[in-house]
Amino acid sequence: LDKLMRFAVVGAAGRMGRALIRAVAEHDDCEIAGAIEREGSAELGQDAGTLAGLEPLHVHLTDDPLPVFAQCEAVLDFTTPDATVGFTDLAAQARIVHVIGTTGMAQSHFDRLDAAARHAVIIQAGNMSLGVNLLAAMTEKVAAALDADFDIEILEMHHRHKVDAPSGTALMLGEAAAKGRGINLDDHADRVRDGITGARKRGDIGFAVLRGGSVVGEHSTIFSALGERVVLSHIAEDRAIFARGAVKAALWGHGRKPGRYSMRDVLGLND
Ligand code: NAD
Repeated sequence: LDKLMRFAVVGAAGRMGRALIRAVAEHDDCEIAGAIEREGSAELGQDAGTLAGLEPLHVHLTDDPLPVFAQCEAVLDFTTPDATVGFTDLAAQARIVHVIGTTGMAQSHFDRLDAAARHAVIIQAGNMSLGVNLLAAMTEKVAAALDADFDIEILEMHHRHKVDAPSGTALMLGEAAAKGRGINLDDHADRVRDGITGARKRGDIGFAVLRGGSVVGEHSTIFSALGERVVLSHIAEDRAIFARGAVKAALWGHGRKPGRYSMRDVLGLND
């Protein structure tokens, strides 16, 4: 690019939205050209920079995405599944890169993304940090090396405001473990345990979820056999890691051929 890449942030007043505004503003090759919030949001009209704890950027929050997308090369989206599928159609129309961090999506949402990805570059990942994507790659490798004598459990903890469970990252790790083991996660996931559950089923991949306080995100993949345990962990201390990952993904995606890509593609961890 011979000029700055222009970004829109949707869900701009959210926890991740503010971190995204800071990450774009701090990047030498990028600028904020628009900031979107939902209709009725109390922050509409506010300056995006001020909202993110920066100097004013002279970009004001609006609830009208179309004219904003027309002025941008990329949109960063950490909102809700229903909002995200709406934005993906608009981003495809405007032919701009859509970077999606939103979690909790159902198959119907992914189908919408795949439809839009026929015409547009979409980069979607349940976690945008380098460390977690490395953890997923390691989880896949270790799961491939160990047989079902090792029980696989995924443990996650997040702040008290998180609305979906298990986290998108935990599911991503479950997918990586299942892929390494050559099984389908849907057939082997044990997502909820309560009461007299019976003994653990050999080959299942279990999930455990903790919620509390201000935890940004902690994940472990635990491989347990008789007499030993391998634990791979990642601790996120600051949302900035996800926001910087999202900016990196947009820069990587600019000018690429249409398709749905993952953060492992962006980071070159897929081989
Ligand atoms: P949040 O609730 O603080 O922010 C979401 C924002 O989106 C809110 O400000 C809300 O008003 C806005 N929004 C909702 N619908 C909208 C619409 N139709 N148009 C415009 N704005 C809309 O939540 P958060 O903690 O910032 O997390 C957001 C999402 O990102 C969650 O799904 C979370 O799990 C995910 N997340 C992903 C990663 C990752 O690396 N992939 C990291 C952190 C969080």
